[in-house]
Parts: sequence; C-alpha cells; structure tokens
Amino acid sequence: MATADVVVCGAGIAGAATAYYLKVELGVERVVLCDPRPPLTLTSDKSTECYRNWWPNASMVGLMNRSIDLLDEWADQSGNAFRMNRRGYLYVTGDPERALDWEESARHVSELGAGPLRIHRSGRPGSSYQPAVRSDGADLILDRSLIQEHFPYLTDVTVAVLHTRRAGWLSAQQLGALLLERAKNAGLTFLSRRVTAVETRDNRVQSVTLDDGETIQTRSLVNAAGPLVGEVAAMMDEELPVTSELHLKAAFKEHLRVVPAHAPLLIWSDPQRIDWSPEVVEMLSADPETRFLLDELPSACHGRPAGNPESPYVLALWEYRRIITEPTWPVALDPMYPELVMRGMSTMVPGLSAYRDRLPYATVDGGYYTKTFENLPLIGPMATRGAFVIGALSGFGVMVAAAAGELMARHVTGGPLPDYAPAFLPSRYENPEYVQALELMTDDGQL
Ligand SMILES: Cc1cc2nc3c(=O)[nH]c(=O)nc-3n(C[C@H](O)[C@H](O)[C@H](O)COP(=O)(O)OP(=O)(O)OC[C@H]3O[C@@H](n4cnc5c(N)ncnc54)[C@H](O)[C@@H]3O)c2cc1C
Repeated sequence: MATADVVVCGAGIAGAATAYYLKVELGVERVVLCDPRPPLTLTSDKSTECYRNWWPNASMVGLMNRSIDLLDEWADQSGNAFRMNRRGYLYVTGDPERALDWEESARHVSELGAGPLRIHRSGRPGSSYQPAVRSDGADLILDRSLIQEHFPYLTDVTVAVLHTRRAGWLSAQQLGALLLERAKNAGLTFLSRRVTAVETRDNRVQSVTLDDGETIQTRSLVNAAGPLVGEVAAMMDEELPVTSELHLKAAFKEHLRVVPAHAPLLIWSDPQRIDWSPEVVEMLSADPETRFLLDELPSACHGRPAGNPESPYVLALWEYRRIITEPTWPVALDPMYPELVMRGMSTMVPGLSAYRDRLPYATVDGGYYTKTFENLPLIGPMATRGAFVIGALSGFGVMVAAAAGELMARHVTGGPLPDYAPAFLPSRYENPEYVQALELMTDDGQL
C-alpha cells in the first residue's frame, strides 16, 4: 500500500496553494495531490481573477493583506509571471444617499487595516487623487468634475466613486501553474485520480481510496474539493455548512473600445431597472419566468478590460438572479445573460449602449461560489482527526489562495497560527453566540 504524509484532494487554486506550502515552504516529505481533472479546470479558471484587500471584516482584511503580500513577493521573484496589476476596484454610484453611507463604511474598512482613506470633496482645489500610482487604502471621490476628469466614460449621473487601491487582477491559471511547478520540482506527486473513500478508525483518518482502487495510507487529508467539499466531507460522515451559488461571466469582443484598456474593475453599486422597448416588455411580461426582468434588479453589475492593452475583450458579470443549487457540470448557461449584462453595464458606461441593437460576439462560462452563510471561508481541522478543509472560498478563492494555502499548511503541520486563523475555523459554529450573531449580519462584502 502506498503511503503519504499528506493527501490533498483537489487541484484547484486552493489545493495548488496548499500543496505548494506543504512541499516548498514547509518541506513535508511525501505530499500527494489528487484530482481527476486537469489542475484548475473546474472553477479556478472561470474566475474574473480580481483581488482586493477591501472587506468589511477585520479577519478578512488580515487574510487578504497577507495574501496580497505573498502575491507581490511571488510577482517580484518570477518577473510577474502571473501578470498581476494594481488597477483597483472602482465602486460607482449615482445615489447621493449611498455616497453618504460610503463615507462611513469606507472609514470603517480603512480602520480594519485596509489602508488610509482619502476623501476628495468638490470645491477643494489641489486634489491629491493620483490614478496611476501604486497606492494603498482607498480614494472616495465626491467631486463630480474630478470624477468626469478621470473617468469620462462613466455616466454623468455618477455622484461618487470609491477607488480601492490595494486591488487589481492577475492570471489565476499562471499563478496556479507557477505554484504547481515549484511544488512538483520540490517532489510533489500528482495523481489524476478522484478520491472515492476515506477510511477512518477511532475518528481518525487512516487512508484514502482512489477511483482506480488504489489505497494510500495517510494520517492527514486536506479537503480542497471546491464545490464538492461537502461530498468529500460526507465520505467521513461529516456535513459542512456550505451552499453553492451559480455565477456566470461573459467575455465581449468590445470592438468600439468604449471601456478604456487602462480602466479599473468597474462596479455599478446601485440597483437598476432596464429600459426595455415596449415590444420586449410585452414579451417578458408574458412569461412568468422572465417577468422579474421588468422589476428593479440588484446592484453590482461589474466588468473590466481583459488581456493585454491591445485586446478588445471586456469581462462582465451580473447576478441579476440568485441561483442556489446543487453543483452540476456543465453549468446551466442563461441565453439572456450577455444581453442583460451588457444592458446593465451600459447604465454605468453609457457608451456601451452602442451595442444595444447588435450585441458584440460574446462567450459565457461560469461556476459556483461555494459559501458559508456569513461568507467567510472554512480553513482548518474538520471533526475527524487528521482531516482538514480549505473551502467555501466563494467569490474570493483566487485572491485568498496564497494566504489560505499558507494557513492550511500551518494547521496540517502544527505551525504557529496568525491572528486571523480562529475566524475561519470550521469549529466556530459550535459557539452558540457566534451562530446567534450571524442572524444580525447584513453585509457579506461579496460582489
Ligand atoms: C464567475 C466567477 C467569477 C469569480 N471571480 C473571482 C474573482 O474575481 N476573484 C477571486 O478571487 N475569485 C473569484 N471567483 C471564485 C474563485 O474562482 C473560486 O473561489 C476558486 O476558484 C475556488 O477554488 P477551489 O480550489 O476551492 O475550487 P476548484 O477550482 O473548483 O477546485 C476544486 C478541485 O477539486 C477537485 N475534486 C473535487 N472532488 C474531488 C475528489 N473526490 N477527488 C479529487 N479531486 C476532487 C475538482 O476536480 C477540482 O479540480 C469567481 C468564481 C466564479 C464562478
């Protein structure tokens, strides 16, 4: 029977980062990574690949700051092999009330450790807003002329933008490939196999069985199965408190170049209604499945330029309908998605209405945000001794992978844990006060 010190189940970005930490940084001898799919091909290559340290929770800010520190370090070492940029996220609103709320909420996030907040009000000469420099914290711009000066492509109803600066995007595939290559060079074993069973004795992991019938004897198993974390937990008769939300993404060939190649990630932060033509209103209202598209639709339609500066592609996303479901593949694609997202984006960037009558070429893909109720990840020991989980990475798995992989590897090897570690332990739900506090939660910070 084969043996391993640690078996990592799942080679998405979470499993790749964990394997990297165990093998390269901590020098664990026999690490086996199992996945029946080519690495990173289930969810991790479907992401918008954006990152930010701007979260409404101190532990998340701590975890993300650590992750971005590590990403910066790896980008420097590798000649930026995973094309990380610092364009930032630009939250945009046309609602004066929301702009007022932002002053307070942005101060709060800044105090959690996300960096300084600079507020640029109208009538104050000599603004210090510097769009192109590598910066930290956030700029809240309340001066409409300053907004139009720097972001002339935004709708003129915009009253405020919040530009979070320790943020941007990268190539998740390249990042994952870099981590796996380093881990393989250090002796990681990759098996193209599915874990089908976990054998336990006295509530302790003994071995795992693979889909070719092979058994690997091990004392440590890391469940990094992405949307299937629950299925792997069930192999140990455990249940994890997660659900999966379907999220789609459209890539448009935006040949008119309305969204400049240097733009940050743009997020329309207000709910909106689509101004359909009378014929379309009639058609949509006739079908109970589509009638909701005539109502007010949720906030957070967002998009960004994709690829190199010459690329005409723009990625755009909008969950105008929340779909919580058992994960299945291929994911169900919504034929109306490109049209809805383009219309939603054109509320924020009116130049995109040029595509109203003729949508540009678009491809759609997607995957699942596997989440806990409060949208904090699960990183730490499971109830079965020797079993660990790194999951519920929701819509932040790429940005958090570096620090989450490091934290997971420390749990497995018994290394010192950072301050933010307790917030992500699966055992947090054993505390009744914690569970009670969840009922009061209003903002999970997710896009
Ligand atoms: C549309 C969309 C946009 C997103 N945008 C962003 C973003 O901008 N920034 C960001 O940070 N995140 C984003 N995310 C989220 C991010 O993509 C995920 O959080 C992340 O990819 C999850 O990684 P993972 O390794 O946990 O899961 P996955 O990538 O799904 O990997 C899990 C792996 O486990 C394997 N597996 C499952 N069961 C077994 C088994 N029994 N045995 C062996 N292997 C098994 C699977 O084959 C799979 O390869 C987005 C997600 C979507 C869908």
